[in-house]
Amino acid sequence: MNKHSALVVGGGVAGLQTAIDLASMGINVYLVEKEPRLGGHASLLHQVFPTLENAEELTKQLLQKVLNDPNITVLPYAEIESVAGSIGNFRVHISKRARYVDKAKCTNCGECEKVCPVDVTKKFEMGLATRKAIYLPKPFAVPARYLVDKEACLYFKDESCRACQDACPEGAVLYDQKPLREELSVGAIVLATGFCQYDAQKVGQYKYGVYPNVITGMEYERLCSLTGPTGGKILRIDSKERPKSVVFILCTGSRDEKHLRYCCNIGCLNALKHTYYLKQQYGEEVDAYICYTDIRAVTKQGEQLYQKVRAGGVEFIHGQPSEVRQTPNGFLTLDVYDLATSKLLSITADLIVLETGLKPQVNLKEKLQLPLDEDCFFLEKHPQLAPNETTRDGIFLAGAVQQPMHVYETLISASAVAMKVSSFMRSSPASH
Ligand SMILES: Cc1cc2nc3c(=O)[nH]c(=O)nc-3n(C[C@H](O)[C@H](O)[C@H](O)COP(=O)(O)OP(=O)(O)OC[C@H]3O[C@@H](n4cnc5c(N)ncnc54)[C@H](O)[C@@H]3O)c2cc1C
Ligand code: SF4
Ligand code: SF4
Repeated sequence: MNKHSALVVGGGVAGLQTAIDLASMGINVYLVEKEPRLGGHASLLHQVFPTLENAEELTKQLLQKVLNDPNITVLPYAEIESVAGSIGNFRVHISKRARYVDKAKCTNCGECEKVCPVDVTKKFEMGLATRKAIYLPKPFAVPARYLVDKEACLYFKDESCRACQDACPEGAVLYDQKPLREELSVGAIVLATGFCQYDAQKVGQYKYGVYPNVITGMEYERLCSLTGPTGGKILRIDSKERPKSVVFILCTGSRDEKHLRYCCNIGCLNALKHTYYLKQQYGEEVDAYICYTDIRAVTKQGEQLYQKVRAGGVEFIHGQPSEVRQTPNGFLTLDVYDLATSKLLSITADLIVLETGLKPQVNLKEKLQLPLDEDCFFLEKHPQLAPNETTRDGIFLAGAVQQPMHVYETLISASAVAMKVSSFMRSSPASH
């Protein structure tokens, strides 16, 4: 039995903060992340509402604490294979995926990616940016070394390529590397697996995936980010021209019995932030519209952001648009009945941004034998009294996996869970 060790699953801001707090209370933490980088969704954003701080910088502060803490062992690019035992004595098998690059030999010289023939479209970058099948993940690769994406690599498809191995001056590329299995003994498990976006294609009338200039809020973040595919310039996706009119549609897939019943909690403030970016870049040369069901600009500074955006010339339309259509020259048109003015408006746009709903990432539900509630979140022990505990003793929830959360709420949730885990460990009789 090892009550002084805990497993945190997920290396987004929730997992990072939980690990930091647990470690500061003297608990050994294993932080398992399935990707070869840490930071989760927050690290891919441009800025973080309501204060509009640089998202990468914010995440980096947490990351540095994690990487410098001797009580935290980071296990990146790893998967939970099985979990046995119970509170106070979980035995967790994890599998560290093969990287096919010896991290001790790799010097990040980049010679391998220069010769790799395979281009892989980068997630959330709308086909505007690619990486190679051998690559250095960004931001926040841990370790900061190259690896081979087995699904994309031609060697693993039909052995038709070995170009990176031939090009590597260090002999670091190893196609026969195997996954490594490890067993961990922990007293508690914190699930910080975050969220995934609702598939905007399911909200068929907005034609996401059909028209290139219809994008999601997450893709728009990448468009605005200095490290994104356009270096931060907000452009039409097809022609790369400056947009003259942009429409932001709230509640895409949220608050709708046909999709997700619940509020995504971030869409309203996101749309305010998104129009703010747009106006900062193009001022009066661009028309910005927000189509809303309600504006829920909660939080202390949310109202300030709302007032700033209203004063900045953004047009607010109280209604959900009808079907999006595309004209032969690539413009998008939509009709929307504005409940505030009782007028039917016809808008032409260069770009439409869908602020989509969020679903919890419950990919470990079977392995952990955890039931879900009717909205497919993990069932909590008690929604009011124990919202960050699952129905299985010793397995806790931190961050957006519990419900959609802002970054600051995520961090509060993570710290609260860490306290709960630590108090359980201290109070357990077997720990004496
Ligand atoms: C478009 C958009 C804009 C946003 N803008 C803002 C904003 O301006 N301000 C704000 O406060 N909030 C914003 N948010 C919300 C913010 O992104 C979340 O609060 C935050 O990302 C939640 O962190 P998390 O760690 O709970 O989840 P995530 O960021 O989703 O991280 C979860 C991590 O767990 C990992 N993981 C998942 N499953 C497993 C598994 N089985 N094993 C191991 N690892 C796993 C994932 O790879 C990921 O790294 C925005 C969200 C979106 C979608
Ligand atoms: S060529 Fe070799 S050493 Fe250089 S980045 Fe690629 S794997 Fe690393
Ligand atoms: S072996 Fe795979 S990763 Fe290496 S160059 Fe060829 S396709 Fe790219």
